[in-house]
Amino acid sequence: MQLQQSSLFESMLGEGFEEIIFFSDPKTGLKSIVAIHDTTLGPALGGTRIWNYRSEMEALKDVMRLARAMTLKAAGAGLNLGGGKAVILGDPENIKNEYLLRSYGRFIETLGGRFITGEDVGTTLEDMQTVAQETGYVSGVRYDPSPFTAYGVYVGIKACLRYLYGDESFEGIHVAVQGVGKVGMELARLLVEDGAKLTVTDIDRRRVKECIEIGKGRVEYVEPSKIYSVECDVFSPSALGGVINDTTIKRLNCRIVAGAANNQLESERHGEVLSGMGILYAPDFIINAGGLITVANEYMHGEIDERMLKREIEKIGDRLDRIFRMSESMLDSSGMPASTAKAAEMFAIERIEKISKMKKIYIP
Ligand code: NAD
Repeated sequence: MQLQQSSLFESMLGEGFEEIIFFSDPKTGLKSIVAIHDTTLGPALGGTRIWNYRSEMEALKDVMRLARAMTLKAAGAGLNLGGGKAVILGDPENIKNEYLLRSYGRFIETLGGRFITGEDVGTTLEDMQTVAQETGYVSGVRYDPSPFTAYGVYVGIKACLRYLYGDESFEGIHVAVQGVGKVGMELARLLVEDGAKLTVTDIDRRRVKECIEIGKGRVEYVEPSKIYSVECDVFSPSALGGVINDTTIKRLNCRIVAGAANNQLESERHGEVLSGMGILYAPDFIINAGGLITVANEYMHGEIDERMLKREIEKIGDRLDRIFRMSESMLDSSGMPASTAKAAEMFAIERIEKISKMKKIYIP
């Protein structure tokens, strides 16, 4: 994101931001920025990230980038929520304590529900429970969303297989999973149960060992650097962002990229390169929305009904299918079919625009 100190309002206007709030508390040392991007569909929902930014400008850029991404993610997931994000500046190891988190919670309360927050990088479930002592505008404090994210990715991979091979069966399908953490491990379990063959990697050997144990003899390991070139049907990035970049893209030996990680493409251009290579890319913010759908359900209903929630998450498959077909009919500036990443963005924006144009009838 281009952002100069002198053109903050220009950036806000250009990117459609509603509000950016700076909070500080000298008593606790709290320095926090909340960006509310778009609340057309409902209150802005987004995690609270604690990060030791090199500068305040870097923190501001990050919170704006992340808040905008949340607008697309919530809209793309069919939720009645807007997009926002919060950052707290500082090293979580040093600054995090009950007083700072509760002070932050009181500030969130002043927003009156325009922004609802939850866990993110640098914050834990326990931290959010502390924040929740001061504000009701917190979600994701009761249920771990990871298994639901994994279920959404599993459903999404099926949709990719259906689209490409006309058959969603995992028999004879080879999936390479990068990262068998909370999401990747559950995904591996679902895939193995359905008959897929897996190659997995992780920098944590204990996670790999556990995955091989649940793998019914169908899970193999490769070193982290070798995962990109595994010959497979599906490459599933489920560890880090930015893994589809100029260096890795040339090594891919798959038909589909579909995983849980956020921001898998280093830049928009890499989505186009994947299309050009004939690789079907399941846009990350659509396929990994199972966690957000869970957090939203927890916020709205307090409890989650697992059966209903799964049904909601299964819609990820139909959404992907629609996006793949949209990308066939949309042309980019060079007259080529648009990338699926671009189509996903259009899909989300279209929903916001249509709802904002809805006739405002008087309801007594
Ligand atoms: P996690 O920390 O539990 O798992 C990540 C795993 O990746 C860890 O086991 C880690 O050792 C491994 N890893 C790190 N660097 C690696 C590398 N270079 N090569 C191979 N493995 C590596 O995190 P998670 O909750 O499972 O989330 C995984 C990804 O999915 C993240 O990008 C996260 O942002 C995204 N995501 C998670 C959720 C969720 O509900 N947890 C929701 C949406 C998106």
